[in-house]
Amino acid sequence: MSKEYKGVWVFAEQRDGKLQKIALELTGKGREIADKLGESLTAVLLGHNVSNQAKLLIESGADRVLVADDPLLKEYTTDGYTKVICDLINERKPEIMFIGATYIGRDLGPRVAGRIHTGLTADCTALDIDGETKNLLMTRPAFGGNLMATIECSNYRPQMSTVRPGVFSVPDTNAGRTGEVENVNVNLADKDIRAKVVEIVKSVKEIVDITEAQIIVSGGRGVGNQEGFSILRELAEALGGTVGGSRAAVDSGWIEKNFQVGQTGKTVRPKLYIACGISGAIQHLAGMQESDYIIAINKNGDAPIMGVADLAVVGDLYKVVPELTREVQAL
Ligand code: FAD
Repeated sequence: MSKEYKGVWVFAEQRDGKLQKIALELTGKGREIADKLGESLTAVLLGHNVSNQAKLLIESGADRVLVADDPLLKEYTTDGYTKVICDLINERKPEIMFIGATYIGRDLGPRVAGRIHTGLTADCTALDIDGETKNLLMTRPAFGGNLMATIECSNYRPQMSTVRPGVFSVPDTNAGRTGEVENVNVNLADKDIRAKVVEIVKSVKEIVDITEAQIIVSGGRGVGNQEGFSILRELAEALGGTVGGSRAAVDSGWIEKNFQVGQTGKTVRPKLYIACGISGAIQHLAGMQESDYIIAINKNGDAPIMGVADLAVVGDLYKVVPELTREVQAL
C-alpha cells in the first residue's frame, strides 16, 4: 500500500457547538492506534464558531485539529459535511479515519467512503493494528450479533470505520499538551447543499441519550409490565439519572428501543448502573459491564447479573426499589 497515505484522523462530532462524548472517545482510541503506527493523530472539526473546542481535542490526545468553520456547516447536512470531508481526505490522504456510529456518523461515513472509493466497516466495537501488515483490524457484531467479525481493508485507503459510542472510554485530559490548530479553507456554496435544515425539533427520545447518562436504572422482564417502569423512573429521577432496559423489556413494549442496553442496543458506561429484574444474559452484559458501579436487584441470587454486580440485592424489586427511592429522596 502506498505510503502516500499517512496519519490517523477522527471526526470530532459536535452539536450546538459542543463536542460530543464520542469525539473524545475516538480521540483516545485514535491516539492509541496512531502510537502503534508511529503516526500523528488529527481531529477534524466541522461547524460554525467551533474553534474553541479544539483545545479539548488536543488535551485529549490530538496532535492537530483541522477546523472547517463556515455558516453553512452550522447544522449537519449530508451534502455539506460529505463534501468538506471528502475534499480534505483527497487533499491530505489520511491512512485511517474514524467516525462515531451516531445518527450523524451513520449517514456521513458511508457517503464519504462511497465518494472516495474506499471501504467502511460500520458499528465497530473493537479496533487494533495487525502487528505484521500494520493494517487496521476492525471488529463488529455480525449475523444479528451471534458472532464477532474482524475485518481488514487491505487494498483501499483510507481505512474507514464508524465506531459505536460508549465502547471506548473518554481519555484523561492533559492540560499541558500542545498541538496545532489549522483553519482550513471551506469550498462550499449554498447550491452544494440540496436539503436545507429548516428547524430542529428534539423528540422526547433524543433528549435523553443513555450513552451519556451517569446513572441508569435499568429494568428487565422481571419488572413484569409497562406500569412497573414507573417505579424505576421515580428512582432514576431521585438519583438524577435515566431509565434503561433489557431487550426483553423492549420487545415487550415496556420501554423504547432507544433505551435498550446490550449487544444489539447501546453500550453504556455510567458511574452507577442499577439492574432491576434483569438476569444478566451475555448480550446484556456486553452493553453494561464496564459501568463503574453495578447494583443488581433480583429475586434469584444465582442470576448471572449477580456475578458482575458490586452490590447484589436478593429481593423483589417491587419492595426494594420504592424503599431505595424513599431513602434517596430523604437525603
Ligand atoms: P430474563 O432473562 O427473563 O430475566 C428476568 C430476571 O428477572 C430473572 O433473573 C428473574 O429472577 C428476575 N425477576 C423476576 N421477577 C422479579 C422481581 N419481582 N424482582 C426482582 N427480580 C425479578 N438482551 C439485552 O438485554 N440487550 C441486547 O442488546 C440483546 N441483544 C441480543 C442479541 C442477540 C443476537 C440475542 C440472541 C439475544 C440478545 N439479547 C439481548 C437477549 C438476551 O439473550 C436475553 O434474552 C435478555 O437479555 C433477557 O432479558 P431479561 O434479563 O430482562 O429477562
